[in-house]
Amino acid sequence: MGTPHLGDSVMKPLKGYWLDPADSPSDATPHLAFEMLGPVLIQPGRSRRCPQCGESLSLLALYRRSPFILLERYAALILEICPKCSRESDGTAGANGFVVRFAGSKALATALRTMKRHLPLGITFRATPTGEPMAKQEFDKWKRGRLHAKLGGRQISIQSESTKRRCSRCGGPWRFVGSIAEKWARRYLNFGFGYGYVFACGRECAPSSASFYWDR
Ligand SMILES: [Zn+2]
Ligand SMILES: [Zn+2]
Repeated sequence: MGTPHLGDSVMKPLKGYWLDPADSPSDATPHLAFEMLGPVLIQPGRSRRCPQCGESLSLLALYRRSPFILLERYAALILEICPKCSRESDGTAGANGFVVRFAGSKALATALRTMKRHLPLGITFRATPTGEPMAKQEFDKWKRGRLHAKLGGRQISIQSESTKRRCSRCGGPWRFVGSIAEKWARRYLNFGFGYGYVFACGRECAPSSASFYWDR
């Protein structure tokens, strides 16, 4: 078995991991690729703007290419937030003030250097294998009562999952990357006390072929 990459889940789901905030960075899983970023001194560049209201976006979290889920083409998935639009209560993708995109190493470095950070303190995570069953039926039975933020594997959500979502650009499989919990930073996130979910095109066909929505 090779290292899993996003497109592998076309045929079978990737391994899943629970995500829990670590008490200190030293308790975090080594090389854990998922980060919620704390403040740094930035060199303000030309800000990326919210597609809905035009205000500047802040950097919320990133998933770097790692053995948890290997990205083939890009170095990372970046989750940005519009502080203004994200206060609204609509969780629908494209309308919630969150923007997720693939980034190459240059775009990642630029974002890290120039973007404002949304959280006043970074959060590091422990990743523990879920051991979830691969077969859909077994998984559906297993997941009951296990709502929890996770990385990889199959989505576990409050409302029922849509299994037929496909990339609108290339028609490729739309893959679950991970979920995050509002309770990690309740003052700074609004998911109606629920969870936010990151999806991306398994073919990594374009920087914008990724999506974020939340439910409660
Ligand atoms: Zn906005
Ligand atoms: Zn695509």
